[in-house]
Amino acid sequence: MKEIILIKNGELVLKGLNRNTFEDILIKNMKKALREIGEFSYTKSQSTIVLEAVDGDTDLDDAVDALSRVFGIVALSRAAVAEKDMNAIKQTARDYLDGELSLAKTFKVEAKRSDKKFPLKSPEIARDLGGYLLSKFNHLKVDVHNPDVTVTVEIRDNHAFIRGNNIKGAGGMPVSTSGRAAVLISGGIDSPVAAYMMAKRGIELVAVHFASPPYTTELAEEKVMQLLHKVARYSGPITTYVVPFTELQEQIRDKCAEEYFTIIMRRYMMRISEILARHQNCSALITGESVGQVASQTIYALGCTDAVTSMPVFRPCIGMDKVEIINISRAIDTFETSIQPYEDCCTVFTPKHPKTRAKLEDVAAAEAAIENGDELIKKAVENARRTVVK
Ligand code: ATP
Ligand code: MG
Repeated sequence: MKEIILIKNGELVLKGLNRNTFEDILIKNMKKALREIGEFSYTKSQSTIVLEAVDGDTDLDDAVDALSRVFGIVALSRAAVAEKDMNAIKQTARDYLDGELSLAKTFKVEAKRSDKKFPLKSPEIARDLGGYLLSKFNHLKVDVHNPDVTVTVEIRDNHAFIRGNNIKGAGGMPVSTSGRAAVLISGGIDSPVAAYMMAKRGIELVAVHFASPPYTTELAEEKVMQLLHKVARYSGPITTYVVPFTELQEQIRDKCAEEYFTIIMRRYMMRISEILARHQNCSALITGESVGQVASQTIYALGCTDAVTSMPVFRPCIGMDKVEIINISRAIDTFETSIQPYEDCCTVFTPKHPKTRAKLEDVAAAEAAIENGDELIKKAVENARRTVVK
C-alpha cells in the first residue's frame, strides 16, 4: 500500500508574504528537517503539501516526528493512496485504519471531493464508506460531534487519499519568514523558551551566551549548547557566540555600587549582544525576562536595560507565570537540561539588596565608575567564540 504524508499549512496572515513564498520557505525547512531521514517529493495543492518518499523503505514515523517540529505546519497526517473507486477505497480504509479503528469506540467519515467528476458526491461517499466500516468493525458507533477517529477520504485528480486522525503540527510561521534576531541565552529555564517562542513566529535565531570563567565552568557552557541543540530541533541551526565576560563582571564588582550590579551587568550584555546581532544581520534581541520574577526584572530595571540598545527587545515570557514557562519548557524538552545545577554568570556576583526601583540616572552614574567600558566591550566582542549549533 502506498503511503504519503499530508501537510496542512499554517496561517498566511503576513501581508506581502504571499502563499507561494510562504510555502517555498516551508518546503525548504521541511527538506532540512528530513535531510537525514530520506528524500521526498513535494507537491503543493490547495492548502496542503503532499510528501512522497522517493525510496519505499523510508521510515515515515521518523519523518512525521521531525515534521511535527517544523513551524508553519498546523496539522499533518499519514495517508494511504487508493484507486478512485469505492471498492478500492473501502478495502484500503479497512486495512490501513485497522489499528486505529480497532482501538476506537466511535468514528465518523468525512469526504472531500476536489474531482467533481467522481460519480458520488461527498455525503454519499461518507455514507457508503461509513456503512462499510460499521459492518466490518462491529464494536464501532458513529459519533458525528466528538468521534475518537475521524476517517477522511479525499478524492483528488489522480487518486483517493484515506487517513485517520490528524497529528497536531508545531503551528506558527516557517522559520526565516520573519527575519533574524539574537537571543541572550543563559542556562536557565526561561531563555530557551523565549528562543523557541520567537522561532515559532518565523524568526531565525542567533544566540549570545556570556561566560565568566573561572566563576562559571565548561559544564555550564556545555549545558547551554545542549539547550540550543534542543531549540535547534525547531528553529534550525543557531549561530552562537560565547562571549568572555569575566573582566567586565570583575570591573562591575570592583567599581560599581553593589545594589546595581545585576542591572549594569545586563546593560553590558545588551550592548555586546547588539553589536554581535548587527554583525549577523539581526533586527532584534530576545531575552527570557518576565516582569517581577527577580529584582532585575521589575519594569524599572527593564527600562534601564532597554535604554542602552536601539534594537527592539522581544521578551515573549514577559507576562507569563513561572509554571506556564515551565510547561512550555517541558513540552519542548529543555526543562530537564535547564534544571541541571551549574552556575550562570548572573549568579556570580549577585547583590544582597538589589535595587528594585532603579532610576536610570542612578544606574548610569553607578556605571560611570567603569572608565574603560567601551574598550572592554570591544575586547569581549573580538574574543567572542562563534559556533553553529545544530
Ligand atoms: P533564564 O531562565 O533564562 O536564565 P532567569 O529567570 O534565570 O532566566 P536571569 O538569570 O535574571 O533570569 O536572566 C534574565 C535574562 O537575561 C535571561 O532570560 C537571558 O535572556 C539573559 N541572560 C542571563 N544570563 C545570561 C548569560 N549568561 N548569557 C546570555 N544571556 C543571559
Ligand atoms: Mg538565569
